[in-house]
Amino acid sequence: MVRLYIQIASSTDPDWSPRRTATAEEVQASAKKILHPYLIEWERVEWYSVYPIGQGISDKYTIDHRVFLGGDACHTHSPKAGQGMNTAFLDALNLAWKIHAVEAGFADRAILTTYESERKDVAETLLSFDNKYAKLFSQRPPAAKEVQAASEQTNAQVEDNEFVKTFKESCEFTSGYGVAYKPNALNWSPAHAAKSSLINPQGSKLRTGRIMINADVTRVVDANVVHLEQEVPLNGSFRIYVFAGVPAVTSRALEDFALRLGNKRSFYSSYLRPDIDSVSHHEKHNPHSLFFTICTVFAAQRSQIEIARDVPSLLARYRDHIYADDRWDRRVPDARAAAHAKMGFDQERGGVVVVRPDGYVGIVTSLVEGSGTVDALNEYFGAFCTNKLGEKMAQL
Ligand SMILES: Cc1cc2nc3c(=O)[nH]c(=O)nc-3n(C[C@H](O)[C@H](O)[C@H](O)COP(=O)(O)OP(=O)(O)OC[C@H]3O[C@@H](n4cnc5c(N)ncnc54)[C@H](O)[C@@H]3O)c2cc1C
Repeated sequence: MVRLYIQIASSTDPDWSPRRTATAEEVQASAKKILHPYLIEWERVEWYSVYPIGQGISDKYTIDHRVFLGGDACHTHSPKAGQGMNTAFLDALNLAWKIHAVEAGFADRAILTTYESERKDVAETLLSFDNKYAKLFSQRPPAAKEVQAASEQTNAQVEDNEFVKTFKESCEFTSGYGVAYKPNALNWSPAHAAKSSLINPQGSKLRTGRIMINADVTRVVDANVVHLEQEVPLNGSFRIYVFAGVPAVTSRALEDFALRLGNKRSFYSSYLRPDIDSVSHHEKHNPHSLFFTICTVFAAQRSQIEIARDVPSLLARYRDHIYADDRWDRRVPDARAAAHAKMGFDQERGGVVVVRPDGYVGIVTSLVEGSGTVDALNEYFGAFCTNKLGEKMAQL
């Protein structure tokens, strides 16, 4: 199937309304003219529509955080950018997990306010990119001699070309990796209520409010090489990635982490499943809580990892989410544990990343012996969860 976009000339006539008057035959005639001296014929037209290009954005995405707008209902742009569907999906994803978290009694209603602030900001960035991009598209097409000259250009000259420059600069944004949510209760920053000194450890390359860095690892139970960031489905859960470093170095820290997660007032144990005693043995992602899935990644070869020996039982229950960081990666060719290195973690001592249910990094902490790591996460979740969290609270 082939999709053609044919621009219909505009007019100053107030009665001009191509949506009413334009026909598929006229558009086909235009296509034939454009492609001449080549020929184009149609066996059949599957779908045809007239689409006025317009940019628009709603002032508000919500009424009282009870009615929400998303997708084309609150932002539109030219089809040149090709981002409408992506943006609509991501609006829905951003909103869906927040509604789930609030309705299920996990998070305060206040997190719903982050939907508009996060997604409207993205739509505004999209519109300004689209504006620039559509203008470049609409410029006069290059003459044959300019095309010839362009093909003889050096790399430096190509980089200078405004269209190429804009296209390259925008790749991060158009691929989705450029989305950057600003600090709020979900995206840690120094202004966040969580103040532990373990947060945002030195060297971390992860940025809160941005997608987690991609990394390939080996799943321990079946030796499959997997994309770590795709391992937990969109199940409404926060993903806790424990980069566990070298087992001989971190065994105590890992034990302490699991022990503190098991404390009654921890962010984790405060939200256990009501049906926890009857959860199927085959449940991979949410055996204990509907709000968390835990992944443990060791900086070791798969053959060296023994789950029963190296992984505390609470974490070992997520046996399908235990990985060996033993894949070579060209971006960190000298690293012994590439995923640890890419995240910016110490390859022996590791660290912990909390990723929001929609894939954006919420907070990064060190992995340490004692209660510090879970304390830091209690502070983070305490900023938007419904229950009072942490040991200190329990003593009050
Ligand atoms: C020609 C064209 C090409 C495009 N190309 C791309 C592209 O390459 N890449 C890209 O990412 N995006 C592209 N888009 C944009 C993309 O299709 C839209 O941005 C996306 O579909 C918006 O999704 P949405 O769910 O917000 O709205 P829609 O997909 O429009 O869904 C709204 C739904 O609501 C229904 N509805 C409306 N009123 C009512 C009512 N009163 N009661 C019940 N139901 C109702 C409608 O029938 C429709 O099914 C293109 C759009 C067009 C028109």
